Amino acid sequence: MSCCMTETPGNLSTIPTETDIAANRTAASGMADGGAPLEKIAIGTYVPPAKPSLIGLSRAEIAERLAAIGIPREQRRMRVQQLWHWMYVRGARTFAEMTSVSKDMRAELEKHVTVDRPEVVAEQISSDGTRKWLLRLPSGNDLEKPHEVECVYIPETDRGTLCVSSQVGCTLNCSFCHTGTQRLVRNLTAGEIVGQIMVARDRLNDWADRETPHGNRLVTNIVMMGMGEPLYNFDAVRDGLLIVADNEGIGISKRRITLSTSGVVPNIVRAGEEIGVMLAISLHAVRDELRDELVPLNRKYPIAELMQACRDYPAASNAKRITFEYVMLKGVNDSLEDARRLVKLLKGIHAKINLIPFNPWPGTRYECSDWDQIEKFSEYVFNAGYSSPVRTPRGRDILAACGQLKSETEKLSARERQALRAMAMTD
Ligand code: SAH
Ligand code: SF4
Repeated sequence: MSCCMTETPGNLSTIPTETDIAANRTAASGMADGGAPLEKIAIGTYVPPAKPSLIGLSRAEIAERLAAIGIPREQRRMRVQQLWHWMYVRGARTFAEMTSVSKDMRAELEKHVTVDRPEVVAEQISSDGTRKWLLRLPSGNDLEKPHEVECVYIPETDRGTLCVSSQVGCTLNCSFCHTGTQRLVRNLTAGEIVGQIMVARDRLNDWADRETPHGNRLVTNIVMMGMGEPLYNFDAVRDGLLIVADNEGIGISKRRITLSTSGVVPNIVRAGEEIGVMLAISLHAVRDELRDELVPLNRKYPIAELMQACRDYPAASNAKRITFEYVMLKGVNDSLEDARRLVKLLKGIHAKINLIPFNPWPGTRYECSDWDQIEKFSEYVFNAGYSSPVRTPRGRDILAACGQLKSETEKLSARERQALRAMAMTD
């Protein structure tokens, strides 16, 4: 496993706050005050394959692999560049395709490593081009449920957005989120994160020397809004996204990559400094009491600390807006008083608000707000000077889908497709 999940990012804060201490106490006992467990311990295990993939390794790590198979030091830099180009510009799936690499070296590489991506076990393609892939990942042993994540591609006229997962399941337990109810959790490796983009490009035939309908790339934007909390898997998400943004490879600009977090405060500023992508915050409530219930992580990092982290987010000063996601829950967080407080809270932050109609799932205690109320809320926020799109032509029918990914093979419904489209519009 690339990152130890039992070490929570809370350990990164130098001086724990009272809230930290209280929250850590409740986390250690497994339950938060309101009854919802704050964090889960990773129970999924990961054993790397005997022949590991080069996908997701840094240039230095690839050079180490080359050293191990006897490639002379003076050749390594050039060889790494060649491999990088074949993997990330041309999308080569075998060493045999890499014709500029010597035959001997290709044979040697084949004995020890691969350029494998995650295994695609199901693919659903809707009539409008939306695609959903179910990916199976290695697990520790045969007794464990298969480790699966989903990855969704949403084409639009001016872009194509890929919704990428960062964990199998999620460490956190937001009360309105289906992924949060899954027990199995493990962090994805950097290779499994980059691998999702590789799979999408493979399936869409979206590599440099292959034909795409308009001659442009199809996957142009990435949102880390699939399963999992990306900032609980910081190192792998950082390493993976830096590879995705590397302009000698996949080359998706950092402005076109959005990382969504439920508010892992110590890692927000780090994300700005070490990754530098666009930030989205799953806010969902403007009072601590309510946010403690909806996003139990709030007990550890309350709203005031979260807002400060947003003000400190390094990339925000670069004329980049932070997106605040706000799920509309009937009678819970959707009053005009909530809208008023929201506007007050965001004062001084270069922000945009994404209102997401709640997507119900079996057994949930929440309902989606009435369409009228969503419109009133949106109007209030808009009149206060914030862009607040509710991107749906079908009102209450819209469902936010990225938060719903649940690793089951099922048809992508029209409602899910609309919801995904809403999630994709992050700028
Ligand atoms: N874990 C990260 C990213 C994945 S979730 C995060 O929470 O930000 C992507 C978005 O979908 C988040 O804003 C999440 O709060 C939202 N979401 C989760 N479940 C939802 C539901 N049932 N209906 C609407 N949005 C939901
Ligand atoms: Fe995890 Fe995000 Fe769902 Fe919360 S909303 S449980 S952080 S995936």
